[in-house]
Amino acid sequence: MRVDAVTLFEPMFSAITENGITSRALKNGLWSLKCWSPRDFVHDAHRTVDDRPFGGGPGMIMKAEPLALAVEAVRADGNHGKVISFSPTGKKLDDDDVKAFAESSQPLVFVCGRYEGIDQRFLDSFVDETYSIGDYVLSGGELPAMVMLDAIVRRLPGAIKDLSASDESFSTGLLDAPHYTRPEVWRGKEIPDVLISGHHKNIYAWTRQQALQITATTRPEMIKIARSKKLLSKSDEKFLEQFFI
Ligand code: SAM
Repeated sequence: MRVDAVTLFEPMFSAITENGITSRALKNGLWSLKCWSPRDFVHDAHRTVDDRPFGGGPGMIMKAEPLALAVEAVRADGNHGKVISFSPTGKKLDDDDVKAFAESSQPLVFVCGRYEGIDQRFLDSFVDETYSIGDYVLSGGELPAMVMLDAIVRRLPGAIKDLSASDESFSTGLLDAPHYTRPEVWRGKEIPDVLISGHHKNIYAWTRQQALQITATTRPEMIKIARSKKLLSKSDEKFLEQFFI
């Protein structure tokens, strides 16, 4: 999957190109990343990519032309995929979006905003979709781009063992159950007996109930969605009666 990122801070992307699952997937050719600086498309002495906002107000705005030239250069280099930008005003990124991007494996062009944002005329002319990663304000679009990329890449076939992705939070419609590893007793705390019973049916039932419980208590709206998608069994519903949702 080809990804190009228009960014003033290319070194930030080493967080995902040089670490962990995303780095391994990159080395194995599952995805590629090429960064483009809008500064390379301006020729004044200061290589200016921002300016004051019309109408006044604090902060600076990213100019449309350097971003437009950068995206046109990406196109000329062969990436004709969707152009994605990031903003607290965008659609909140969720697991369905991530799954769709991973399954289509189509090339993407990420435009990472900085300062107070990007000239709206560039967004209207070049951007296909805008995503928010949550209700808070970050300093730039690089972290949202990396969040989205990490989430997509770990879902690409071959990035991780299939089973580990399929039972994670959201993919089943529920949050993940708690996990434990050795030692069996840590600082006086034991693990649930069922996990060392060797009884796979009971382990599955316990894990399912833990997932139902944590979802019902922290994200009750997800239970309603799981119900509407018919993801819950009769025994799930019986267990959920105690949470009154
Ligand atoms: N003035 C903007 C506002 O109030 O909505 C915030 C601009 S923010 C300081 C600079 C850049 O960071 C944005 O253009 C966007 O690319 C990125 N950004 C900040 N918070 C974000 C979030 N929650 N989700 C996605 N991108 C975000």
